[in-house]
Amino acid sequence: MPHSRKKLTKTILSRFAAHFEGDLILPENRLYSRARRVWNHAIDQYPQLIARCRNSDDIIRAVQLARDYNLLPAVRGGGHSFAGHGVCDGGIVIDLSALKQTIIDPVRRMVRISPGVLGNELDCVTQAFKLAVPLGSCPSTGVVGYALGGGAGSLTPKFGYACDHIARCQLITADAREITASQGEHKDLFWALRGAGSNFGIVTALELQLDHVDQVLSGHLKYPIGQATKVLAFIEQYAQAIPDELFLLLAVLPHPGDRMLNVSVVWPGDPKRGAKVLAPLRQYLKPTEDTIQIRSYLEEQRAGSDNPGDGDYSTYRRAGHLEDLGAETIDAIVEHATRAPTEASGITMIYWHGPWSSEPRDDAFGFRQTGYHYWIHSYWQRANEALPAQRWVKGFFDTLAPYSSGAVYVNDLQNEGQERVRAAYGDKYERLRALKRKYDPTNFFRVNQNIPPN
Ligand SMILES: Cc1cc2nc3c(=O)[nH]c(=O)nc-3n(C[C@H](O)[C@H](O)[C@H](O)COP(=O)(O)OP(=O)(O)OC[C@H]3O[C@@H](n4cnc5c(N)ncnc54)[C@H](O)[C@@H]3O)c2cc1C
Repeated sequence: MPHSRKKLTKTILSRFAAHFEGDLILPENRLYSRARRVWNHAIDQYPQLIARCRNSDDIIRAVQLARDYNLLPAVRGGGHSFAGHGVCDGGIVIDLSALKQTIIDPVRRMVRISPGVLGNELDCVTQAFKLAVPLGSCPSTGVVGYALGGGAGSLTPKFGYACDHIARCQLITADAREITASQGEHKDLFWALRGAGSNFGIVTALELQLDHVDQVLSGHLKYPIGQATKVLAFIEQYAQAIPDELFLLLAVLPHPGDRMLNVSVVWPGDPKRGAKVLAPLRQYLKPTEDTIQIRSYLEEQRAGSDNPGDGDYSTYRRAGHLEDLGAETIDAIVEHATRAPTEASGITMIYWHGPWSSEPRDDAFGFRQTGYHYWIHSYWQRANEALPAQRWVKGFFDTLAPYSSGAVYVNDLQNEGQERVRAAYGDKYERLRALKRKYDPTNFFRVNQNIPPN
């Protein structure tokens, strides 16, 4: 659906404001320049209106306004989409960040959250009862936006993806109705929401099943870059025999004056057994730093706030998937990583394994892959660093392309075109298009990794 840049006049806005209970932020407001910002500062867009909703009725009104005046609608949760889908130029941002309710039922091991709840906020509530949903590494990511795209974290090898925990969604559809989707209601939509959710509506409440999680054995092993080739080759062998619950993340990073390989592990099972599983890895080529110890899951999750992008950074990235780490792939990785243009650049890989990553499930999530999920990333703060950073990422990605499977995780995408979105859903893509024709035939929800209806 083409969108006009119809100007919202004072009369339209005051009529709208009369019924809207949240905050309306306009370009002339003091809050505007901060409110339009998303996590990736490379995205610099100017909506006509930011409608910070206070309840579901506000969301319905904002959807109706966008429909009536043919405005481009961006839906903002935590604002962490790499592509910057929490904002748009000339349209309306339907901002959910103020909707922060979390209701936990520890007996049923269920939690119900509003769409503004962030990862760390949910972890704090669930961990008070030694419970958790598998959340990602960044405490300030919006839980709903994350889970609707799949949602992968350190608990995934043991417990699955966040979308595997969704029991029920309440959402507002493109025709401004509030409905529920679950195994019992709008079952086809429930299938689509678990993996491709942002295409089908605005989720106003998500009910998630919780797992028991107390302490974990976790930490990192650090190696000088000169040992990266040997260690990665060792890990390729070691990973073949690890138990399902071990989370293994590898990062080749050019820290200031200290290019290195960082191997992070999280073991959410019995610590004694974990120590045995990790022993061969810890003993191989003695790392320069070994921080593996028993800690609370919350402490482990908070370590994610070290992410270099949690400041005023711009970022560029490309992601993909390797079925294995052959000698040529390892050489290409180490060689490219050591030529990173900025300090906050590198390649990170997660080794996915076990049933949650290998067995098909009845949902739209398109990245159940075993092997190495990778993302090449570069962060910068000065404008003159942008081009070298982007060139380096693209060159690295092109080098890895012949070794990659073509699969990609939708939450990793920037604005990379339709073929990459198709690749993120594989053989589920056509079914999603048919559902898009049913639930959003005019492609109202299109500021996302879009699945066009036609
Ligand atoms: C630093 C960092 C670390 C990350 N780590 C991980 C990780 O470990 N694992 C992982 O799986 N992902 C990770 N991600 C990716 C992240 O999960 C996705 O970018 C996710 O979409 C962010 O959701 P958000 O609500 O914060 O972002 P937003 O930009 O607000 O939204 C992202 C998309 O979801 C849609 N959306 C948001 N809320 C709703 C809603 N209520 N209803 C319908 N659509 C909605 C938006 O329209 C947009 O298309 C990370 C991202 C960052 C920036």
